[in-house]
Amino acid sequence: MNKNEIVTVTIEDIGVGGEGIGKIDGYTLFVKDTVIGDVVEVKIMKAKKHYGYARLMKILTPSPNRITPPCPVARQCGGCQIQAMSYEEQLRFKQNKVKNNLIRLGGFAEERIETIMEPICGMEHPFHYRNKAQFPIGQDKEGNPVAGFYAGRTHQIISNLDCMLGVEENEKILQILLAFMKKYHLSAYDEQTQRGLFRHVLIRYGFTTKEIMVCFVVNGNRIPHEEELVAELMTISGMTSISLSVNRENTNVIMGKEIRVLAGQAYITDYIGNVKYQISPLSFYQVNPVQTEKLYGYALEYAGLSGGETVWDLYCGIGTISLFLAQKAKQVYGVEIVPQAVEDARKNAKLNEMGNAEFYVGKAEEVLPEYYASYEREHKGETAHADVIVVDPPRKGCEESLLRTMVDMKPERIVYVSCDSATLARDLKYLCGEGYQLEKVQAVDMFPMTVHVECVVLMSKVQN
Ligand code: SAH
Repeated sequence: MNKNEIVTVTIEDIGVGGEGIGKIDGYTLFVKDTVIGDVVEVKIMKAKKHYGYARLMKILTPSPNRITPPCPVARQCGGCQIQAMSYEEQLRFKQNKVKNNLIRLGGFAEERIETIMEPICGMEHPFHYRNKAQFPIGQDKEGNPVAGFYAGRTHQIISNLDCMLGVEENEKILQILLAFMKKYHLSAYDEQTQRGLFRHVLIRYGFTTKEIMVCFVVNGNRIPHEEELVAELMTISGMTSISLSVNRENTNVIMGKEIRVLAGQAYITDYIGNVKYQISPLSFYQVNPVQTEKLYGYALEYAGLSGGETVWDLYCGIGTISLFLAQKAKQVYGVEIVPQAVEDARKNAKLNEMGNAEFYVGKAEEVLPEYYASYEREHKGETAHADVIVVDPPRKGCEESLLRTMVDMKPERIVYVSCDSATLARDLKYLCGEGYQLEKVQAVDMFPMTVHVECVVLMSKVQN
């Protein structure tokens, strides 16, 4: 294969970033914007020895699972990697991805996986599910302010006020801001020159409470005529918190460290199930509340709590899963590396009057082994025990030293929440070699239109 060559290829698989994968005589081609089953004409853009990257030129025979993306800027934006795939096919693809990783990387028998794996939990309405949006602000060629999204892998802003993954309130808020900027000739931040005022707008929406938060990220200490902007935004029903985040750094990090409330309060409140959370502009919070409740519901069900248990929630973030579990357990210990998240977790425990949740700051792979060792010292050789351990690690999964200590604590059940089924499979393989068996696997579609898939797994201790 050579650069600029035009070839025909059938798409057979999807890569980790959502790109289609096809093969020509054993040579692998990655083609963005294609769907499994498409027969396409492509132009080779980059040719390596065993694989290459090609650009979609023409769809010769569309896949039966290809649809016209409902969003007109889906291809340019790149945020929705697989919007051209029918939702049923997206779910099939995700279910298979989890299943295949467990078989291929986890070493589990196909039959066993097929017996215990429930059908993936998809969304009834797979759009407008995000409770958080961060719109960059820029300028078009005529110098008018625009808000939208960065075109795939660039910092060029494509105007789009009503992203189909976000809530409809976003558009109204952005329109008010853009009209205000135009009226007073206020500038957008320019990354090249590092000048201009408005950088980003963060909008959060409480799906249960209908409370709205707007936070303007600006390269400056204040917004000229800010009272007028704030007054207009406050007329939107549900507006609860308007704030300013000062970010004068030359950085890709969106939020500045300092937040100043312009109107209303510093946070919004929302619920997942019966648990209440306060969310400030800098807090981490799950972006798909509808599916989060289902995900945590499975985690709680798998934990099998009856009120007397000691539970560890490792990688607990702001304590969302911990507090969900604390409703049914005797005692929950959460461990999280980000100190501010732990502060939020403690605050949320208080807010819900849950005295049985305690949080530690630190790396799970350090906190748990240290706890185990000090327990042994203090209890004259008796070892620390947990009834249930829940983990929800980032993509890279758990360190082996952590898995080791988990096994040493002899929990009856381990509930593994994962956003990467490849590292999940690797970690489950380890646990299976240490006296645990796979009981249940449930994939949950937390991010429709993207390639990401979340899952919850139950492991139980083999009785001997
Ligand atoms: N369970 C939470 C958050 C899961 S995201 C929820 O559902 O909301 C994973 C979390 O792990 C993040 O909050 C991240 O800050 C934290 N983290 C990353 N590495 C860690 C480590 N080595 N030890 C403990 N926490 C870690």
